[in-house]
Amino acid sequence: MVGLGVTEKMLIGGHISTAGGIYLSPERAAKFSFRTFQIFSKNQMQWKAKPLLKEDVEKFQNEVKSRGMKGIMVHASYLLNMATPDLELRSKVIEAFGEEIRRADILGIDYLTFHPGSSNGTSEKEALKNIADNLNQLIKSGQKCTILLETSAGQGKTVGHTFEQLAEILDQIQIKGKVGICFDTCHVFAAGYDIKSKSGYAETMDRFNSTIGLDKLKGFHLNDSKKGINSRVDRHEQIGDGMLGIDGISNFINDMRFADTPMNLETPLGEGGYEKDLAAMNAALKED
Ligand SMILES: [Zn+2]
Ligand SMILES: [Zn+2]
Repeated sequence: MVGLGVTEKMLIGGHISTAGGIYLSPERAAKFSFRTFQIFSKNQMQWKAKPLLKEDVEKFQNEVKSRGMKGIMVHASYLLNMATPDLELRSKVIEAFGEEIRRADILGIDYLTFHPGSSNGTSEKEALKNIADNLNQLIKSGQKCTILLETSAGQGKTVGHTFEQLAEILDQIQIKGKVGICFDTCHVFAAGYDIKSKSGYAETMDRFNSTIGLDKLKGFHLNDSKKGINSRVDRHEQIGDGMLGIDGISNFINDMRFADTPMNLETPLGEGGYEKDLAAMNAALKED
């Protein structure tokens, strides 16, 4: 390899385990030379969370700071459907999401990413409005973290798979400085956008810019896709092994507009596969 590696050139990270203590995650991320990373701040399959211990929070923050890491992301629980029309469920979701925001703020984490949700039981328009209404109840101007809506693959009745839908949610948000988008390469490809060819990538990013605005693009999930374009199936694959392929990923890791935008791997093997993912990306870096 000549010149900079991908972790030096871009702000690359990955989803990292918090097993044994949340403060262990920065060290785990550093093993891959990551300068950023993503975690769950609580068991993502449960509604309730154990309170964060002050000493754990301090250790976590010291680890992040001493390693010069930035743009850290929390991924919210998969259980939270912010689009639900069910009022009882909705108050439960709002409470749990509020807890996610509080935990991110206690940890001093910049971004809280969530899946916009599913329109099950309601219309698409109503689902988008429910998401915006719930966010408006939750977002406080004094909050530190920025909430990111993740682009979805459009599987089942999930919303947020078109840039127009995401823009419609963002338009209805009152405190606009605290929301943005996390662009998942697998999901956007599965949702039908050509980000694999050079021209398709340029066109897609132009479209993102004119619909949502590139200033709203605060983070990426870098994943290859097991399924093809427009499959509407959310199945991640190791970098270079899927239908998006290394050509698609190459478009992102060579786009210097995003050199300081966190890009987190969420590939199926997790920490067991990141070395291989990084090797594939390093081989695809263009000399500038
Ligand atoms: Zn993702
Ligand atoms: Zn996914």
